[in-house]
Parts: sequence; C-alpha cells; structure tokens
Amino acid sequence: MKKRSKIKEGTCIYCGVVGFLTDDHVPPKNLFPKPRLGLLTVPSCERCNGSSKLDDEYFRLAITSVVDGMAFPIAVDAIRKLDTPEKDRFKRSMLRDYDRENGDLQLDRPRLHGVIERVIRGLFWHHQRRFLPIQADIRIWFTSFDEAPMDDMGLEGQLEALRRQHLHQIGRGVFTYQYMFGSDEAVFSAWYLRFYEKNEVFGIIFPPPI
Ligand SMILES: [Zn+2]
Repeated sequence: MKKRSKIKEGTCIYCGVVGFLTDDHVPPKNLFPKPRLGLLTVPSCERCNGSSKLDDEYFRLAITSVVDGMAFPIAVDAIRKLDTPEKDRFKRSMLRDYDRENGDLQLDRPRLHGVIERVIRGLFWHHQRRFLPIQADIRIWFTSFDEAPMDDMGLEGQLEALRRQHLHQIGRGVFTYQYMFGSDEAVFSAWYLRFYEKNEVFGIIFPPPI
C-alpha cells in the first residue's frame, strides 16, 4: 500500500491554506468498490481532508438509499447496522428524520451540497490547475432530491450543451461527469455529475462578487 500522507507542501485547493498537503479523493473514495483503481486525487490540507469523512459517508448512504425522497427499507436497515461506536452519533442523525409511516427521509441538503461543492472544487482544480476562490458561488441541484425547478437555477439552457461535452469517467461507471466553461474561460462554468449512473447533480460556478 502506498503511503499517502504528507506528500508535499503547497496550497490546499479547498481552503487556500499553505502547508503540508495530503491527497484527497475526488469524488470521495468510499463511493468506489475495491479495487479502487484510477481514482482522482487533489492536494488538500489534512484538516480539509479529515473533516469530511462523515459527510462523505452520509452522502454515500443518501445517494444509494433514496429515490425521489423515499428511503428503501433495506437501506434504512443498513443505516441502523452501522454499529461502530464512532458511527453512533452519525447513525442517529441519519435516522432522526426518517418517517417510519411513509418512508420519507428528510435529507440534510446543505450537507449533501457541501460534498458536491468539494467534488466540483476538486474537478475545477484537476482540469484548470488553479485555485477556485473560496468566495466563488457554487449552486447545486440534485435531480432526485431538490424540488426547485431547473429554470430557477438557470440550468435549462445549459443542459443540452453540457450533454454534448466530453464524457469523463472515474471508476467504471461509478462516477461520470461533463463540464463546460463560459466564454471568458475563467470561473463561470457548468458541471453535470452522475453517481452510479442514476443520481444526477448539476452545479454552476459563479465568480465571486467583485
Ligand atoms: Zn484545506
């Protein structure tokens, strides 16, 4: 196994702190079955890398267990069975809003959006080799969870063009994505991500306010 910690010094692509860097997986590596070959990593400080683990787990459970806001009972069982002590608080938080009667799981959207924001920041760095300013406004829309109509997000016109872009793939169908930049090629860009071929997420990066 290759040692991954403290490989170099530089700027964390998430928070901009300069210091020792680790390799952070984009998207989170817990989404991929083993053997995990050909995954993408970006330079991240230890704090940013380590602080997202439970969010990544929440994200994985959410996208594998929920379709149109309904939780599959089998998936809820899987969440209950997360029995390591460190997962206990996490498990309770995941189950807290599960409505036994109608199977509805109230997902923590800001938490899910946070994971996607990191993925988009990671992909931005991977393709552009430049730091996306922290103040950049990343708007995110899940087709399965978020009810806001697409035109509210300004995505309608982007979608067709996005689907014509080069299709990138990581981990044999686990994660695919397409992206395109606005005419200034600076920050403004649209991102179309798919997890397990069915969970679609759109993101648009708007430049930071001047
Ligand atoms: Zn950082």
